[in-house]
Amino acid sequence: TSSNKANDSNDSVVVGVLGGGQLGKMLSMAAAKLGFRTSVFAEHHDDPAVFVTNNSVVGSFVDEEKLQQFAAMVDVVIVEFENIPMSSVNFLQQTVTVCPGAKALYVAQNRIREKEHIKALGVELAEFAVVNNFVELKEAASRVGLPAILKTAESGYDGRGQYMLQNAADIEGLLHISWNKGYVLEKLVAIEKEISVVIALSCNGEHIFFPVAQNLHVAGILHKSEVPAVISEEILLQAEDIALTIAKSLDTLGILAVEFFITRKGALMVNEIAPRPHNSCHWSIDCCNVSQFEQLVRIACGLPLREVHLLTPCIMTNILGNNELGKNVYGDARNSISLYGKKPRTKRKMGHINSLKY
Ligand code: ADP
Ligand code: MG
Repeated sequence: TSSNKANDSNDSVVVGVLGGGQLGKMLSMAAAKLGFRTSVFAEHHDDPAVFVTNNSVVGSFVDEEKLQQFAAMVDVVIVEFENIPMSSVNFLQQTVTVCPGAKALYVAQNRIREKEHIKALGVELAEFAVVNNFVELKEAASRVGLPAILKTAESGYDGRGQYMLQNAADIEGLLHISWNKGYVLEKLVAIEKEISVVIALSCNGEHIFFPVAQNLHVAGILHKSEVPAVISEEILLQAEDIALTIAKSLDTLGILAVEFFITRKGALMVNEIAPRPHNSCHWSIDCCNVSQFEQLVRIACGLPLREVHLLTPCIMTNILGNNELGKNVYGDARNSISLYGKKPRTKRKMGHINSLKY
C-alpha cells in the first residue's frame, strides 16, 4: 500500500529489504533493475546491502523506533534474514506487507517446528528426535541410532551449531554444551545426491519453479550447485510436488527453497527449507532469463511472475573466506563472479562464481 511511503521527490515504489547480507544486496540490485527504489534495514553500517542503496536504516531488528522509521519509508518489506524475531515481523505487518508471511518465517526459524510441520504433511524426513538436555540426548541416540547429527534448533547455518556423533564417546563429549536451547538429533542419511527446489509464489496463487539444482556440501557448507541436476523425471516431479505442498501449507509469498537428500536407496527426503532466496539458486542471476531475486521483487511489488528458462547449464561455486578461489577470477572470460563485499573470515561466504557451460 502506497500510503506507507515517505513521499518525497517522486512516487516510485520503495522496496524495503530487511537484512543487510548478500541476499539483501542481490535483492536490492534486482529491485533497482526494475526501477524501484530500495531501503535496507541492516544491523551494521558495513553490511553488503548497505552499499547498494542510498537509504539504509542501521540498528537492531528489535528496535521498534527504527522498525517504524523503516516501515514508513517503504511500500513492501522483503525479509532476507530468516531469523528476524517474530515480534518484529508482527510489528511491521501492522502497517506493511511482509514477504514471506509470518507463518513461513515462524516455522522455518526453528528446526523442531520445521521438521514437525513437514512430517505432519506426510513428507519423508530423516529420522529425528527432539532433544532438550543431556539425558534426552542419550535416550534419543539409542532410539535414532548412531551415527547421527545433533543440530541446534535455532540460528544454525552453514553447518554451524551441529555435532556429528559417531560413537558413545562423542555423546559424552556433549555433556557440557549449552542446553538452554533445543536441539534435533537426526540420523545420518546415506546420501547419494543433494538437490534443491526453488519455487516462486505470487499473491494471486500462481507458482513457478526454478530448474532443480544438484548441490555438493563440504563440511556442512554449500560448495557447488550444478544445473540442471542429473536426476530422473520421476524424482524431479516428486521433489517439485513436495516443494509446492510445503509452500502451500505455509501460505508463503515470494521464494521458498526446499533442500532434499536423495538416499542411496533412491528415496527422496526433505532436509530443510528456507523461505527466501537460496544460495543454491545464485546461478539464476547469470544463467536464467530471470533470477530468483528479480522474481521475488516482482512478487513483492505485485508484478506478474515471469516464466523461468535456463539459458545455459552452469556450475556455481561458493567463495569462502578461507580459500583462494576468489583471487584472479576477474580475468576469467568464462566465469561470472559476484563478490559480496564482506570482510574475510574463515568459512564465511564471500562471493560466488558462475561457470557458464555455453
Ligand atoms: P544448515 O542449516 O547449516 O544448512 P543442514 O541441516 O542443511 O544445515 O546441513 C548441512 C549439510 O550437512 C547438508 O546439506 C548435508 O550435506 C549434511 N547433512 C545434514 N544432515 C544430514 C543427515 N541427517 N545425514 C547426512 N548428511 C547430513
Ligand atoms: Mg542446509
